[in-house]
Amino acid sequence: MAEQLGRLSAQPGNIVPKPPDNLLALINQRIAPTQPLTDEQVYVACMYLVSDQVNSFGGKFPTDEHDRIAALLIDSPVIVGHRKDQLPIGRTFHAELVERDGRNWVKSSFYWLRSVAGAEDLKDNIEGGVYKECSIAFTYSLPECSICGHDIRICEHEPFQEYTTSSGPSQCHFNYRQIERVLESSLVYRGAVPDTLVTRETENQAVDATPPEKLTILDHLSRLDPDRLYVVVPRYDSLPVVAGCSGGSLSVRRFDGVSLGARIIEQLCDKQLENFASRPALLVGYHGKERCRLSDLERYLANQSGPVSRLVLALYPDTRNGVRVQKRRGSLRGLRTLPYRISSGAELHLIVPQIASRSGVEIWPFEAKPLFDTGFAFSGKSVRERRPKTYRFNSNPKTGQARLTIRSADTTSIYIVSDFDRNLLNRGARFVADLQTDVHEPEYSPHALSGLVNSLEVADTSMRLSLSGPLGGDYIIRPITIGGQSRFLFSRLLSPQEKREVSHV
Ligand SMILES: [Zn+2]
Repeated sequence: MAEQLGRLSAQPGNIVPKPPDNLLALINQRIAPTQPLTDEQVYVACMYLVSDQVNSFGGKFPTDEHDRIAALLIDSPVIVGHRKDQLPIGRTFHAELVERDGRNWVKSSFYWLRSVAGAEDLKDNIEGGVYKECSIAFTYSLPECSICGHDIRICEHEPFQEYTTSSGPSQCHFNYRQIERVLESSLVYRGAVPDTLVTRETENQAVDATPPEKLTILDHLSRLDPDRLYVVVPRYDSLPVVAGCSGGSLSVRRFDGVSLGARIIEQLCDKQLENFASRPALLVGYHGKERCRLSDLERYLANQSGPVSRLVLALYPDTRNGVRVQKRRGSLRGLRTLPYRISSGAELHLIVPQIASRSGVEIWPFEAKPLFDTGFAFSGKSVRERRPKTYRFNSNPKTGQARLTIRSADTTSIYIVSDFDRNLLNRGARFVADLQTDVHEPEYSPHALSGLVNSLEVADTSMRLSLSGPLGGDYIIRPITIGGQSRFLFSRLLSPQEKREVSHV
């Protein structure tokens, strides 16, 4: 099973302005700075990171995993606002199991240096309650079903549903098992990031004057670490750029620092956007649906001539923060997120064919900042022919909304299914669905069902899907008009045997 990524929110605890000797000794012993630190040099604060309560994903850290989390936390970085492209502001040097408000918690302690820029701000922001929440990012392999003990991605149970067990009624959740690594813990603001902060970050960002030749050509996928997590994106003949948004307007610059002109920006997006901090992206030139060569794109950028008829700015996924680009109103035109997959090194040979372009894929270590750090290019020629269609199915019992994503060689279709109920689906009920036209990837959810699409036939505008894996079976998606709106009906095609069973219930 692929390694999963988890991120949970919690609360920061108190600050310790002058750490006692025992804490200081732990810093010097476990982190081992080149010069031993004194209590005059550091601030220490703590976070309540992990509890044994079921979280909003339906996941839980069972108490018997708390020891492991505590051990893995030691020497992990602390960052602010998930900005993994910036240096960590602190480091965790201690973690312990404590009880708080009748719950079991893992409490971590981290330190930062008083002498560095921003140290006082950080202290004030924690003490003043600006950094109200914290979260932990970790990887794990097994979401264990609380009802049957199996992997919840393949068993029949759904988080938050009630089931009758031998010891009475029980609400389903899953336990995080086989926890592999703690990637970092983050301090985050409560609510939205203030615009001013994003602006400051954008302005302060150093311009990297060297063009990004950060891709090492890979001759075989087995050269990568099977146990590491990677982000895989298609490889395009394109212009690497850095894109950001402050004050609602988009800015795009090349790696030599030169910004693209207003006339180009206008073609990508002429609406107000939610602000986002600088991110690596690829600018791609299209003629109709065909991608053009970089030389044609440059010609277009220079004097708007040549075969390029439109531009697309594809942002690298920001896997820690969720990848969505939010518009305020109107269309995004040419702004989107690069299609991507997250895979362990061991499963790359399965994942790469799903997403490779004619030029193959780029593979970035999960923690890396694409184009800034070192990644890999893989031609993928040998695997492209075997690229299968895949599906992914997420349902949220709380909102009753489900999301069916179907991916083929070049397209991704996402259907949002309303008032969804798995049992009713299995009994042949039809659900209203909407095809999502905004291009962005679904959240990487730990209990999504995914597998292969065996066949996909379109006849009389209805689509018939035959799926294998956890959602195995035949399904129909057909267009309808409700209240003048074009929507879809999604249903499962019952076998004659199933039809008889349903009619007897
Ligand atoms: Zn189960």
